[in-house]
Amino acid sequence: MEFDTIAAISTPMGEGAIAIVRLSGDEAVSIVDKLFKGKGTKKLADVPTHTIHYGHLIDPETEQIVEEVMVTVMRGPKTFTREDVVEINCHGGLVTVNRVLQLVLKHGARLAEPGEFTKRAFLNGRIDLSQAEAVMDLIRAKTDRAMNVALGQMEGRLSKLIQKLRQEILETLAHVEVNIDYPEYDDVEEMTHQMLIEKATYVKKEIERLLQTAQQGKILREGLSTVIIGRPNVGKSSLLNSLVHENKAIVTDIPGTTRDVIEEYVNVRGVPLRLLDTAGIRETEDVVEQIGVERSRKVLKEADLILLVLNNNEELTPEDEQLFEAVEGMDVIVIVNKMDLPQKIDMERVKELAKNHPLVTTSLLHEQGVDELEEAIASLFFEGSLEAGDMTYVSNSRHIALLNQALDAINDVIKGVEMGTPIDIVQIDLTRTWELLGEIIGDTVHESLIDQLFSQFCLGK
Ligand code: GDP
Repeated sequence: MEFDTIAAISTPMGEGAIAIVRLSGDEAVSIVDKLFKGKGTKKLADVPTHTIHYGHLIDPETEQIVEEVMVTVMRGPKTFTREDVVEINCHGGLVTVNRVLQLVLKHGARLAEPGEFTKRAFLNGRIDLSQAEAVMDLIRAKTDRAMNVALGQMEGRLSKLIQKLRQEILETLAHVEVNIDYPEYDDVEEMTHQMLIEKATYVKKEIERLLQTAQQGKILREGLSTVIIGRPNVGKSSLLNSLVHENKAIVTDIPGTTRDVIEEYVNVRGVPLRLLDTAGIRETEDVVEQIGVERSRKVLKEADLILLVLNNNEELTPEDEQLFEAVEGMDVIVIVNKMDLPQKIDMERVKELAKNHPLVTTSLLHEQGVDELEEAIASLFFEGSLEAGDMTYVSNSRHIALLNQALDAINDVIKGVEMGTPIDIVQIDLTRTWELLGEIIGDTVHESLIDQLFSQFCLGK
């Protein structure tokens, strides 16, 4: 397939030792060649693929050096997008990297849309449907890091799991086939029943496990709806500001793009927080009163996470206690702020009220405790496994729907065997499970089933 050449900053926004501008497309090499001056007269068009070259980027108009760079040339199809890819490593920092981006845009590249590199990887056949969908979904998470974390974890993991399950089902189907073909052997039938139950239960458990990740997948996709509550003056705005300022990696904040900056999205260790009703926090001083208001109740109800802020420098008030009541049964992190000031709050009582909820102490004025808070947020929602990166997330609603259907089908299999339903009927449900799972990864259906069944049958018997 042929596309125009796209470019984007591929490293997170902000300060870093190096930053990378990536180009992909037929013109990737020739565009950079217009700007790159390496040693002697070396042209990137002539260099071997997958090599890196030191040199300078020169603005052809002013003939000024724009940046000292290392340029990696990777020719398709052995690249992420399967197209020609050029990566310009430049010095970190927003200004430099933007200048480089602007330069390549001026000389023939188009600014990539979010996820466009990945989209190309799919369109050019490098990744399968579920991976591509997952990527496209996650892009809506609005935060760069959340996307990357999920992406890394997802690289084929869901597909591999699904494939493994389908393989199990195929093997089972092969056995069922034997049973249908040689019904005269009694023990075969018994064995088949036993094996069917075993395998079907295994598949069922795996599907259920996948469905359980959907919640986290949803968080990665949509952001974790978060509400900051607390009496006036406890430090809610300060908290909001700390979270926003410490987590600048908001994908939409690229100069030169027209997309709106949604500043309520912050990215905390891979957990995209969607700070709800932040305007409300800024505008209304008395949030406790607000809680009585219908709208605030609704906001609270919609929240996945409540950040409840208390003031270390004041005694607990009935309003504080009311707040705890209002968020009963929700995911709450209790924050005792203003730790730099003398303690007047009854910490024992706070611990009692907090029950099992994480309790973090901060001094937001001095930017202290924010790390611990972020840690608490991350571990609350990923049980610390986020960094370990061994989760497979299901976040796409189509996948979830298919998994649910597959679960129904496999339940029918189990029920069927238990009730002594004729094996060829059970076989239909089992095949349906296989097909539904296959739809997730966009596999072709009947023909390969027949082929596989046949090959297995011959090999095994
Ligand atoms: P809000 O009304 O809950 O949004 O509270 P603000 O964030 O506006 O903070 C109220 C006041 O407390 C401001 O003057 C902040 O500078 C101050 N403040 C916030 N956090 C701290 C802290 O940790 N220590 C001290 N000493 N003052 C703080």
